[in-house]
Amino acid sequence: MKKLAVNKEACIGCGICCAKDPAHFDFEDDGLSSVISQDNIDCDEVKDAMDSCPTGAIHYEEDSDQEEHHCDNCENKDCCNK
Ligand code: SF4
Repeated sequence: MKKLAVNKEACIGCGICCAKDPAHFDFEDDGLSSVISQDNIDCDEVKDAMDSCPTGAIHYEEDSDQEEHHCDNCENKDCCNK
């Protein structure tokens, strides 16, 4: 199942997503946006926030809670899940 995510390395904290869709995005203490809800993530508000993000930081990703796979070299890091 996919989930909604913000790439913290790309986010510049402009706040557009929080203004467009406060049901899904809010600022964290680091001044960057994060996803606060995974409900109804295909709605128009999420897509509008995604389209409006100046750095393309908002995206969908596969939910890694499902079936985590680690190779022998992972040592519990997530190299296999990228
Ligand atoms: S719109 Fe994009 S860059 Fe701006 S706060 Fe949201 S995720 Fe960060």
